[in-house]
Amino acid sequence: MAVLQWNRLAGQERVKGVIGNAFQNGTLGHAYLFCGERGTGKFAAAVDLAMAVLCCHNGTRPCGECPSCKKVNTYSHPDFHIIMPVILEAEHRKNNDISEKGWQFMAASAKSRIDDPYKLPQYDKKPDIPVDWIREANQAILRGATEGAYNAVIIDGVDSMKKESANAMLKTLEEPPPGTVMILLTDKAHSVLPTILSRCQMIRFAPLPHDVIAAELVRRFGVGTDDSRVAIAAASGSLGVAIDEFENPREEYFTAAADLWNDCLRGNWEAAAQSAEYLSGGKDAFSECQKVLSCLIDLLRFAVLSKTGAPINYFYSGQSNKIELPEAITPTDVENFVKLCQEALFALNARGNAMLVMVNFVCTLMEMLNVEEQQAC
Ligand SMILES: [Zn+2]
Repeated sequence: MAVLQWNRLAGQERVKGVIGNAFQNGTLGHAYLFCGERGTGKFAAAVDLAMAVLCCHNGTRPCGECPSCKKVNTYSHPDFHIIMPVILEAEHRKNNDISEKGWQFMAASAKSRIDDPYKLPQYDKKPDIPVDWIREANQAILRGATEGAYNAVIIDGVDSMKKESANAMLKTLEEPPPGTVMILLTDKAHSVLPTILSRCQMIRFAPLPHDVIAAELVRRFGVGTDDSRVAIAAASGSLGVAIDEFENPREEYFTAAADLWNDCLRGNWEAAAQSAEYLSGGKDAFSECQKVLSCLIDLLRFAVLSKTGAPINYFYSGQSNKIELPEAITPTDVENFVKLCQEALFALNARGNAMLVMVNFVCTLMEMLNVEEQQAC
């Protein structure tokens, strides 16, 4: 029997063993749910597996050379389908349907995930899986494979699937035609609908060990293993997060977010207002403010986690002590602070007046923090 060769997947030896054996023994399941943190290799493994299933080569698969492998690489194989959460804009829709431009956008999004499965997609609002995409893949599966004996489907972010989309897929998931391999991916297994969960074989992806991430960072960025950034990024357990941190360092935004918060906490209105004005007055005001606010949301979460003594297996753990929390803070308070940040993010997304949004944010935050203080006294 053919041997599965993992070309994209880094580390995850246990996963490689389980799936590799099933592949070799011809006992591959028809539906898998890959779950684990973002950037730990779920998508890489899914592409390797799908490619191997479709590969025409007789020996080790995927060969990367046969017509089938080449079509998978360019996302032009009729029996290979990727579905993932996307943000569709008005130009991607026509009446109630997805426009030509929309389908092209969706295919391009899928293609970029094949090109580098560890590059985490960036969204500036909540993405969604379009039900039409599910329906299209469903039809292709039910029609059967057109080139070989197999149909391979990858569905990323199944936890974000709405009921309508899930329903469209359930029957196929329950009784797929022979030769179908469905690979569902999630980083929130607890949010996957039970009806989906029960129809899949679950494969867990563990956080990656330090040396696996470090080796990949050295290979990609040509840095030395002794580079201090490698040590910090590798501690995340996620290659995707580590790569993102290397490409878009957030350190300065964490610092700006912490300063803003601490000024508000101490009631230093002048300093807080100055930061808000400075952040919203620059060239890339919207994206700068957004980065600071999303870092503040992370900082709040890390601070709460460290306060409760929870282990933070995440590379921003070094950031957990950056902000102080009021003594008497409750989970509801934190939730409200996060909500306030999210509302400001929403206003920035809608391209409101950045300065107004930020000054308003600082005023409200300060008010909320002061109410806490007064109650504590
Ligand atoms: Zn091949």
